[in-house]
Amino acid sequence: MRRKIVAGNWKMNKSWPEAQELASALANQGNQFPTEVQVIVCPSSLYIHGLRGILPSSIALSAQNCSQHDLGAYTGEISAAMLASMGVTHCIIGHSERRQYYGETNEIIREQLDACLKNNITPLFCCGETLAERDAGNHFSTVSSQIQQALFQLSAEQIIGVVIAYEPVWAIGTGVTASNAQAEEMHAFIRSFVANQFNQSVADSISILYGGSVNAANAAELFACPNVDGGLVGGASLKAADFTTIIQAAQ
Ligand code: PEP
Repeated sequence: MRRKIVAGNWKMNKSWPEAQELASALANQGNQFPTEVQVIVCPSSLYIHGLRGILPSSIALSAQNCSQHDLGAYTGEISAAMLASMGVTHCIIGHSERRQYYGETNEIIREQLDACLKNNITPLFCCGETLAERDAGNHFSTVSSQIQQALFQLSAEQIIGVVIAYEPVWAIGTGVTASNAQAEEMHAFIRSFVANQFNQSVADSISILYGGSVNAANAAELFACPNVDGGLVGGASLKAADFTTIIQAAQ
């Protein structure tokens, strides 16, 4: 059966002392986290190794991105193999900020996914439509095409190892959250799209997270939707107390 997951995407926030302080607060509150919820923290890659010594092993550490290439002359990049060699177990792939600001296409994202899987890193694969696409009634076709192009080359065994995060671009960092109905509608659509390509049991094994202005006040009702298996949380993951409330809401 699929797992409940709450992942905190710290993005390009926190100095190293601030990152240690936040991680220490999460470590102190860890005994309040429900054991059935997998907690993942996604800090800057620069901090992952140092934070491993602060966070308990029950909290997984994730990169926010990786190169699609194995190795070589790619200045500034970090490969999936490098992440794996440092004990990193998860990596966000295809975040809308990467798509929008760094030109990551579905093709690049597919290659990054392959690189992660080859190195036993669980991808947290993001998909989601812009407001213009939703307003034009193209949200299902946008999301299905992102999923098809990035994930449908995988075997059933491989796709079970991927976590999908539905993140409507218009809800990320805006304070505007998808309604419960909008979230559930898209999550159910994604699950049936995966079931049609693979089968129902594969689709039922995949965790589909919601992301987009999740906070301590709205998490419980979003996570209560039958096809919402937790959240990918940006801004609210930067405060230990709020992130703890969100983790508790996923049980
Ligand atoms: C995100 O960056 O993945 C995200 C969902 O951000 P926020 O929660 O701040 O909208």
